[in-house]
Amino acid sequence: MNTACDLAVVGASFAGLACADSAARRGLSVVVLDRKPAPGHRMHTTGLLVKEVADKLDVPGHLTRTIPGVRLYAPNLRHADLDAPGYHFLATDIQGLMTWFADRATSSGASLRFGTPYRGAEPLTENELRLRGSDITARFLLGADGPSSVVARDFKLGANEDFLIGVEAEYEGVGGVDESRLHCFLDAELAPGYIGWVIPGVNIMQVGLACRVPGKPRLKDFTAKISALFDFSRARILSHRGGLIPVGGRVRQWHGSRVLLAGDAAGIVSPLTAGGIHTSLESGWRAGHAIADFLGGAGPHPGIALERHYPRFRLKRWLRHALDLNPPNALYNLLLGSRPFRTLAAEIYFHRRAMKSRRARAGSSAH
Ligand SMILES: Cc1cc2nc3c(=O)[nH]c(=O)nc-3n(C[C@H](O)[C@H](O)[C@H](O)COP(=O)(O)OP(=O)(O)OC[C@H]3O[C@@H](n4cnc5c(N)ncnc54)[C@H](O)[C@@H]3O)c2cc1C
Repeated sequence: MNTACDLAVVGASFAGLACADSAARRGLSVVVLDRKPAPGHRMHTTGLLVKEVADKLDVPGHLTRTIPGVRLYAPNLRHADLDAPGYHFLATDIQGLMTWFADRATSSGASLRFGTPYRGAEPLTENELRLRGSDITARFLLGADGPSSVVARDFKLGANEDFLIGVEAEYEGVGGVDESRLHCFLDAELAPGYIGWVIPGVNIMQVGLACRVPGKPRLKDFTAKISALFDFSRARILSHRGGLIPVGGRVRQWHGSRVLLAGDAAGIVSPLTAGGIHTSLESGWRAGHAIADFLGGAGPHPGIALERHYPRFRLKRWLRHALDLNPPNALYNLLLGSRPFRTLAAEIYFHRRAMKSRRARAGSSAH
């Protein structure tokens, strides 16, 4: 049997499901493949959302937990509180969230196939591809298969080259954590080029850190350090996760004649904050529209339509270089005591939109 569809999507995560949803709403026949057995299985992400995303998508409240503020710690464990009244972050039940995204794409008409790896594609006609080892033919292919995209490799598109590596443990029973804050830790030795974190999640506590590749995040050492602040005596690890985060910006070649990349596959992740959920959803959603317009004869090739919507992150790449200089811990200890540094940190966490309100508070002093 042959399944002929307009769009085949590789990857049923943020970018792939957003694309499948938007393309199916525009009337395309869409098939999504993912090698995972089920939506949200062994996700590699912390799953923290920024307020704008949750507002726009109307993510159900029971899948999230609102976290109003940030507590930023220097390596000596002194801290400053950062707030932007009216703004907040959302921790998520990541498996529940992905199931919700998958259900949305299915109700829009997309067909989702889990347990189905992508094994390559070959041209069938000028306007059609066949997915190897499957019954699927498609007029267009979206590679939303993450930071080490096989679709990109297969079609000789650009590859991500600069990465952070992150690891995280999900705990129950951690005591003494102020649950109204994201706890973020600067430490040039344990988390060079990034931070460590303790996030009050949905019925769990998420403890993790990331560092620049080729370094290796030492979660045990980090947990030992923060045991001075939080009570791990009754804590139990429920699961571990980890993965690569591309921080080199948009890959050079992100489309071909019948193929397009989105999300991490295209390098659309903030090189500074390493947040990629928002940008994966956005790039996937826009890709769905652009592909529908192109296949319907109503728009240019998606590579042209999306050029100005796929960010290049010029400023954030520059700031990433500054972070990669990895200031020594003594300097971080000093900086946290300075108001301009705390203001800069608040701007990074709360984004310009929240800062424009001029109500953001960067902690009058470090504690
Ligand atoms: C430890 C860690 C913590 C993070 N925390 C956050 C955070 O809190 N907030 C935030 O905004 N960002 C975070 N990020 C980044 C964020 O998770 C990613 O940017 C985001 O998941 C990218 O989504 P995506 O849809 O592009 O790709 P992915 O989420 O990587 O999904 C790719 C999908 O493709 C599938 N796939 C891959 N290869 C194949 C194949 N050959 N055949 C079939 N299927 C395939 C995979 O199974 C997967 O489902 C974090 C990343 C890491 C590693």
